Amino acid sequence: MKIVDNFLNIRQSIPSDVKIVAVSKLKPLEDILCLYNNTGHRIFGESRAQELVVKNENINIEDIQWHFIGNFQTNKVKQILPIITLTHSVSNVRLLNTINKVASNNNFKAKCLLQFHIAEEETKQGFDIDEVLKLFDKDFFAKYPNVEIEGVMGMATFTDDEIAIAKEFKLLRSYFDILKNEFFSDRDSFSEISMGMSNDYKIAIAEGSTMVRIGSSIFGERN
Ligand SMILES: *Cc1c(COP(=O)(O)O)cnc(C)c1O
Repeated sequence: MKIVDNFLNIRQSIPSDVKIVAVSKLKPLEDILCLYNNTGHRIFGESRAQELVVKNENINIEDIQWHFIGNFQTNKVKQILPIITLTHSVSNVRLLNTINKVASNNNFKAKCLLQFHIAEEETKQGFDIDEVLKLFDKDFFAKYPNVEIEGVMGMATFTDDEIAIAKEFKLLRSYFDILKNEFFSDRDSFSEISMGMSNDYKIAIAEGSTMVRIGSSIFGERN
């Protein structure tokens, strides 16, 4: 089975403490179940709210862990936040406010990563470090009691220039270190650096990634 072989080859080639998010967006449930049943893998990444809702309703398994990695529209939070294990793509304050409110209304803590803008492309989402530093200086933990920030996420520029990619991942790593030292030194929640996709995960791991988000190298090209 191609999907299983692809996954196992990647799993064996990277350190065992680096988590893999199998990005199943635009792929059918059979592909998710194939990996789930044959490898014991549980973490799947989706980037569209509606697709996630439909998949979650139809798959009907308790212990699957959905990670939301896409552009998160505020008006979708209420519907999908309760089924998400980790949101990678918290990229603005309005979204953070909404996530806190929805989690509060449902009595849980929403696990999130702060997405930073590290790429050249302006179309990619994400905070600037100054915005986030301001946010934390203003009593972040009291203001967002229903959000658990577990770390940072970023996407590098789409390019063949490996040095440029490494530089962007280094930058994200430096943001992680700053936040960890300044605001999380007495908390143990902040531990994840989500960076690396099919074309750049090896570079990301060399730069300190703890979580890679891999789609096409596992499931094949998307249409
Ligand atoms: C689609 C996507 C991925 C996976 O991309 P591949 O190149 O197929 O591995 C990872 N992260 C995000 C945010 C994505 O949207």
